[in-house]
Amino acid sequence: MMAGPGRYQTELADVVRLRITCDDCGRERRWPPYKVREAERAGVRTIPELGSRVICPHCRDRGASGRNVSVVPTLRRGP
Ligand SMILES: [Zn+2]
Repeated sequence: MMAGPGRYQTELADVVRLRITCDDCGRERRWPPYKVREAERAGVRTIPELGSRVICPHCRDRGASGRNVSVVPTLRRGP
């Protein structure tokens, strides 16, 4: 993966919980901490990476791609 200097990617390790909004149907899902850790264990490392994997099941059900989703993370507070 490209992660050159100056390219900021939020690490999943710093994320406590997530809000996933579908830009097509407006539905919103919330991921509690255990779901975030689950994704981490599945090998996802960054928010952009997660965003490219998550789909909206409602849009998928009606035949759309379901990939027009926004991922909004809540970050762990700094040390
Ligand atoms: Zn949707």
